[in-house]
Amino acid sequence: MVSSRLASIPESTTMKISAMAKKLKAAGLDVIDMGLGEPDFDTPRNICEAAIKSLRRGNTHYVPANGIPELRTAIAEKLYDENGIEVSPDDVAVTPGAKMAIFVALQALLNEGEECVLIGPSWVSYEPCVNFAGGRVRWAPVNDEFMPSDLAGAITEKTRLILVNSPSNPTGAVFGRRVLEEVRDLAVDHDLFVISDEIYEKIIYEGVHFSIGAFPGMEDRTVTVNGFSKCYAMTGWRLGYVVAPPEIMRWVGRILSHSVSHAVTFVQWAGVEALRGPQDETGSMVAEFRARRDLLISGLRDIGIKCTLPGGAFYVFPDVSEYGGGDEFSSKLLSDVMVAVTPGSAFGPDGSDHVRISYATSQERLKEALDRMAGVLG
Ligand code: PMP
Ligand code: GLU
Repeated sequence: MVSSRLASIPESTTMKISAMAKKLKAAGLDVIDMGLGEPDFDTPRNICEAAIKSLRRGNTHYVPANGIPELRTAIAEKLYDENGIEVSPDDVAVTPGAKMAIFVALQALLNEGEECVLIGPSWVSYEPCVNFAGGRVRWAPVNDEFMPSDLAGAITEKTRLILVNSPSNPTGAVFGRRVLEEVRDLAVDHDLFVISDEIYEKIIYEGVHFSIGAFPGMEDRTVTVNGFSKCYAMTGWRLGYVVAPPEIMRWVGRILSHSVSHAVTFVQWAGVEALRGPQDETGSMVAEFRARRDLLISGLRDIGIKCTLPGGAFYVFPDVSEYGGGDEFSSKLLSDVMVAVTPGSAFGPDGSDHVRISYATSQERLKEALDRMAGVLG
């Protein structure tokens, strides 16, 4: 029935688990959902007001496929000020969510059979997006701290690009300058592109965020992806962007114009406010995430679960091999104590000993989840 191109594409496990948890909740069960990576905070008020004002002004019509100039200008300025990336607004395309930004970037870059290197456990949608574009994933191994341990070994003559995601979903690892310089050197030596997914850039507790697109030698071979979902709690608004060299950008524009047309017009105006308005709410969210991370890590360690301290994002990725591995652990938690977490196997072959626990939930619920876990595992 379905095309052979699609036959190997799995459902998104994160979305599936979230739907399952919602269904159980709707049936009246007290599920604690730590499966989905979605901030539990409301979108800041000034951003909502900007969207409402925009609607009232009548911003309800088609706009250019790559986005309104006001937002592309705000993004280019942000990239210069915060990331050290110097681009013009024409090098930026606004997309309905960062997921679409990754999708179009891979469509533009990959030829049939070419390879994309993913570093260790990686976000659920990368491999399907590579496969949609006709490419294949090659996994580069990581060490106990989730840093690449043999990136060079993953490069073959078919490699077209390396995808980096720091802070990482699902591990929370933050790549320092040295790691990114290694990526840069390999990209330059082997003439590769790098896609840098920086959607968690501001949710960082240890270390500093570096944008590889700002490194000398990377100007013409980096595609930077970012979005508003995580740092501004705007998941449902569907707003992201992609920045790429002009040659790639031409094709990104064509793909958008023939598929989604563009991101929702009044949502783009809300994006202008997110970037240009006060930033203090992002700071408070990050402070709260840090407190939750500390609470969760110490609670898991008290139970006896091995856990690396994540430097960013809002996930912990503990090793649960002593409990039968990630698949068994997550189904036991859900069926026995109604705690939803994501099995690490969703994030690639190196993830199967792990589970991803999202701490985008209140401290009170985290404590309750830890009590439930201790009860079933202790
Ligand atoms: N990249 C990563 C690493 C993510 O965790 C997410 C979360 N869904 C996305 C991209 C896509 O975000 P969105 O499409 O909501 O902007
Ligand atoms: N990025 C989030 C997660 O990993 C949202 C769900 C998704 O888009 O996969 O859970």
